[in-house]
Amino acid sequence: MVRKLTAAATALATLVVSCAPETSQPMKVRALVLSSNGEYTPTEVELKTVTHVASLEGKVARFVGSASIQLSGGDPEVQAATTEDALRRAMTKDSGRSITASFIPDAQGVLTPADFHSWNVTTTYYNLERAWEYFNTVANVPQAELPQTPVYYFPEFILGELSDKPQRDNALFFAPMGAFMVLPFDTLQKAPLAINASILTHEYAHLVFNRRVFDGRALPPPLTAWSQDGFTPGLNVIKAMDEGIADYHAYVASCATRFGCNTRVLSTTYDDALVASRDLATPRCMDALTYNQLLNANLAAAAGLEYRVGTLIAHALYRSAGTEAERQALVRALVAAYSDPDGNKYGFNQLASGFLNSQESFTLAVAAKAIVQHLPAGSTLQAQVCNNFVNILQIPAAALAGANACPASTVPGDCPSIYSTP
Ligand SMILES: [Zn+2]
Repeated sequence: MVRKLTAAATALATLVVSCAPETSQPMKVRALVLSSNGEYTPTEVELKTVTHVASLEGKVARFVGSASIQLSGGDPEVQAATTEDALRRAMTKDSGRSITASFIPDAQGVLTPADFHSWNVTTTYYNLERAWEYFNTVANVPQAELPQTPVYYFPEFILGELSDKPQRDNALFFAPMGAFMVLPFDTLQKAPLAINASILTHEYAHLVFNRRVFDGRALPPPLTAWSQDGFTPGLNVIKAMDEGIADYHAYVASCATRFGCNTRVLSTTYDDALVASRDLATPRCMDALTYNQLLNANLAAAAGLEYRVGTLIAHALYRSAGTEAERQALVRALVAAYSDPDGNKYGFNQLASGFLNSQESFTLAVAAKAIVQHLPAGSTLQAQVCNNFVNILQIPAAALAGANACPASTVPGDCPSIYSTP
C-alpha cells in the first residue's frame, strides 16, 4: 500500500512542497491510521501542535535525522562524563540535523506525504501528539511536564552492552538521552513500529514515568543503585510497574481511536505468540515461580520478567475498570501515584528514593498500595482494584489495608493461592 502511494507521489513530484513556510495550526495531513477493520489506511487527520511543516517540528516533538548515538561502558568519553548533560554529549557521536518531509497538497489544502519516510515521520508525529494529548487531557498531566522531546529518526544507535552493530527494528523512549528513537528496520516488515499508535503510546508512557518517578533523570539513582545488587527485587517491581502501566495507558488511549479499545498492544507489528503473551484481556494469575523470581531474581538474568509481571499488573487494571469513566479515573490515579510527597500516601518516586539502600522494601504490595491510595476513597473502582490486586497479583489483603486503602471486604478470587499447596 505504501509502495503504491509512493509511486503516485513520485509522478506528481512537481507539486511537492518540500520547504513549506510556517503553518497556521492546525495542519491537515494524511497519516497511516488503524481503521475500524484493523488495517492501516491513509486517513485525513489534524496535527494541532506542528509549527514547521517540512521539518515536522512542534510542541510535542522535534525530529533529528542522521544522528549517531552510542552508549558503551568502555567508551573513554562516556567514562569521563561526570554530569548527565556531559553523558548525553558523550553518547552523541553525531548530533544529526533536522529532517525534510515532502508533501503534496490537494485542492482542500490537505497535505499527503510524498514518499515512504514522509509517511513514516508524519504518522510518528501524529501518534506522539495523540499520546501527548491523552496524558494531558485524560491523565491530567500538565503540559509543562510534557515538553518538546527529540525524536532520533533512523539514527545509528549502538548499545555496546548488547552488540557492536547498530540496533534495528525498534521504537523506544531512551531515558539516557531523554529522547525517542525510531530505528531502521531489518526484519520487521508487517507494520513499522512508529506507525503503531499503541506502541508509541506505551513508549510515551515511559517518558511520563521517567519524568515523574525519576525526575527525568538520564540515569535514575534507584535504577543504578538497585542494579548493582545480586538480587534485584525492587528493580524487578519498579520495572514491572513501568511496563505494565505503559501497556494499560496504551489500551485506555486506544479507546478513543477509530479502531476502538485495543487490548493487544503489540498487535500488527509482532508475531501472534508475542502479541497474545501481552494481551490485557487474557485471564492470568501470578504463580509461585514468577513470584519467587520477583523476590529472588536479578532482572538482568531473568529474561522478560518485567513484561511477565507487567502483563499481570495490566490485566489486573484492565479487569478493574469496566466503563470509560472508570478507566479515566484509574489512569489519573496511576499517574498521581507516580509521585506524591504526602507522607500518608507517598508515590513511587518518594518510596524508591526512601528505599535507595534497601530495595527489598520496594515490594509489589508497597507499589500496589500507592496506586490504591490514589483512587477515590471508598469507590467501587477502588474496591475492584483491591480485589484484582489480591487475586491476580496474589498480594496478601492485609498488605493493602489501611487509611484510604483497601476495604476489609477484599476477598480472594478465582486465582489459585500461591501461599498454600493445593
Ligand atoms: Zn516498555
